[in-house]
Formats: sequence, C-alpha cells, structure tokens
Amino acid sequence: VLDETHRADLRSWVASANTPTTDFPIQNLPLGVFRGGGSETPRAGAAIGDQVVVLEALVRLGLVEGAARDAALLCAGGTLNALMAAGPDARRALRGGLVDLLRADTAVGARARAASAHILVDARNVEMLVPASVGDYTDFYASIHHATNVGSMFRPDNPLLPNYKYVPIGYHGRASSIVASGSHVVRPSGQSKNDADAEPTFGPSRRLDYELEVGAFIGSGNRLGHSIPLADAEERMFGLCLVNDWSARDLQSWEYQPLGPFLAKNFATTVSPWVVTMDALAPFRAPAFTRANGDPRPLAYLASPSNESAGGIDIQLEVWIRSERMRRESVRAVRLSRVRFTEMYWTLAQLVTHHASNGCNLTAGDLIASGTVSGPTRDSRGCLLELAWRGTEPVTLPTGEQRRFLEDGDEVIFRGFCEREGFARIGFGECRGTVVGPGDTTAITS
Ligand code: MN
Repeated sequence: VLDETHRADLRSWVASANTPTTDFPIQNLPLGVFRGGGSETPRAGAAIGDQVVVLEALVRLGLVEGAARDAALLCAGGTLNALMAAGPDARRALRGGLVDLLRADTAVGARARAASAHILVDARNVEMLVPASVGDYTDFYASIHHATNVGSMFRPDNPLLPNYKYVPIGYHGRASSIVASGSHVVRPSGQSKNDADAEPTFGPSRRLDYELEVGAFIGSGNRLGHSIPLADAEERMFGLCLVNDWSARDLQSWEYQPLGPFLAKNFATTVSPWVVTMDALAPFRAPAFTRANGDPRPLAYLASPSNESAGGIDIQLEVWIRSERMRRESVRAVRLSRVRFTEMYWTLAQLVTHHASNGCNLTAGDLIASGTVSGPTRDSRGCLLELAWRGTEPVTLPTGEQRRFLEDGDEVIFRGFCEREGFARIGFGECRGTVVGPGDTTAITS
C-alpha cells in the first residue's frame, strides 16, 4: 500500500539523504542496531543519508508520540525483535513518525533539526550489529537458474529434481554463526574427497564460495500447530536484508547426501545490518516469476492472484570482489555479477507459507533466506561455483589474478537497490565480509 511516506518529492533536513545516489533517502528509513556514537550499549536506529537516527533519543526528547513512540520503545532492548513481533501496524507507525520528524517541511521536523546533535550519529562512527536475535535461520533454494546450473554440474543427466517445481526446497541453517557485515570469515576446515581418491582428507576448504541471497526477517509469526495462509504471509514479514551464505563446496559435495548441507554452510552467514521494511519496498513490488509453458501450477496453498501479480520484489543485486592484492595496489573493487530478485521461481510469501504449512512455528526475528539469486545469463550468476563453472572457467581480476574459488584476503561485497520511475531510489547498504586463513580469529565480530 502506497502512502504519503513514499512520495518522491519528500525532502529531509538531513542533507545527505537528498542526494540521488544515497541508499537511505527519507523514503527508505531501514532499521538496525549499532554500538558506538557515544554509547557502547547496543541501540536501535534508522538510517538517513550518512547518519543514524537514534530511536531512544527521539523518545527521550519527546520527538515521537502515540503509536510511533510505543514502537520506538519496543526497540529499547538493543534488538528489533519486540518491534518485529508487534506486527505491521507498529512498524508503520514508527515509519510515519520518522518521516514526519525527518522532513524538511514539518513543525516536528524543525524541532528535530534543532535537536540534531542529540538524535543523530554519523554512520561512519558506529559499528553495526546483527539487527535481531535470530532464533532460527532457514535457507531456501528458490532460483531455478541456480538450481539448474548447480544440478547440471553434479547430475548432468538429471539437473533439476522432479520435486523442484512443486515444493520450495530448503534446509535448516544455523543461527549462532550469523554475523554482521564487516566481520571476517575464517576459512573452515572439514572433510572432502576428490573423485580420484579412495579416502577423504581433513583440512582447510579449498573451494570456498559466497552465495548472493536476500533474507526476510519474520515479524509476527505463527503459533505451533498453526499455518500461515498465503494471503497472510506478506504481513508476517518485517523486512529484508542481504545475505551471504558462505559455502565450502568441497565439504558440501562430500557431506550433502543424504541429508543436505551441514558443516559446508554453518561456519558463517553474513547479513547486511539495515533491515529495509516491507513498507519501504511497497513501490517496487512486481509480478511473481513467469513459469514456463508446461511447468506445473503451484499447489493451491501456494497460489493466489495477488501473489502472482505482486508477490515479487524488483531488487537489483550486485556482487563485488576485492582481493588482498587489489587492496595493496589500490585497485578498486570489481563487479562480478548483477541480477534481479524477480528471477526467483518462488516468492518470499510462498517460502513463508510453505515453511509454516506443516504447523512449524516461525518466530519474530527468524531469518528466511531466499537461496542463491542467479539469473539466466552468465553475468547474473550469484556464486563463484556457477560463475567459474566448478573451476573450469576461472574469473580474471583486474590484477590478472584468477579466481576459481575464494582466496584468503578476498573481500566480497553485496549491494542491493530498488529503482522505479516516479519513486525515490532506495538501497540496502552493503553486506561485506573478508575471508581470512584458518585459525585467524582476531577480527571476528558478531
Ligand atoms: Mn544458500
């Protein structure tokens, strides 16, 4: 639903929010949790331009009232979980209050501007944290391009298994190893076995990869034993972030049968720290993926006209990389691929509904990731396994270095943004992580 907060002509008294290239104009206002800027206690805030609005300061100074104040108070515990659990009305009330006080043309905006030294902190001076206490993390496999590419490498005769077009495939991931953007990722060790060898060996992964994904934070979930009808699934999502599902392909190919991913995936998952709310994304809704002629229709519990017409979200996603040598030689990060989130075979609402269809309870703060976002073309592949085609088509960096998989020192950066004629461009910020050698745990934050 579009309202006053989506108007493209809104201007903020925070000057950096009015530049056309910012990820965080007044129409976005993603929420996050940070440390620093005068306090070491984790605090919740909203991104505006290159600044962070501190929610507790707004309450203290009386700059929010009514339902917006109540919603801001829910964030006092240093996570967004309570606000997520409160449902879409609380989230929208906070958004409305924030827009009012950040606008350049309102009375409360003038008061907030006068108090700016007390309510804003420079985003460069804070450390962003994982925005919610994530109780459970589930990773899906919703790109048919990714599933077909990967399937064709491991099962050339049978790339796409017969269940794919009926059931959104997923696995239960690990919440404890979710880290915020900027955290280092230690190269995992594990078992792997080359086809030519008789026995597996244990050691550092030699096929470390990233996976470009979009994550949905669950808002008000469902009680155990109850399901979430597709018509309600949108309202149960709080907002989205970018996700890097780091993957050790050599560990994965040895361990994944018969029960699926385990240690190849659960050593680290990086999330972008700003949660872009479903409200901010409203102008960028798009039809669900158009299924090919001959593909089955989704079963009834996963089908509705509104999901088909507007269940997609047009997010443009990018993968960038910068090797250690590139940093040393002051070579800028280079883009490896770009892809639209509308390429996904299943919508996020279908993933949520399917997840709860057996009565499994989803809880506020749970993270539901989409699976690797890949498109139909080479330059839209969302992981190195696909991009370098299992190592047979290495990627060449500007320094002449080649990449089949990630090397120690490689920094992987995801970016995401939405653009549509007549609306302000909004972005997700960055999801960034640097691979470090086995045992190099000095720079891990979570
Ligand atoms: Mn994944």
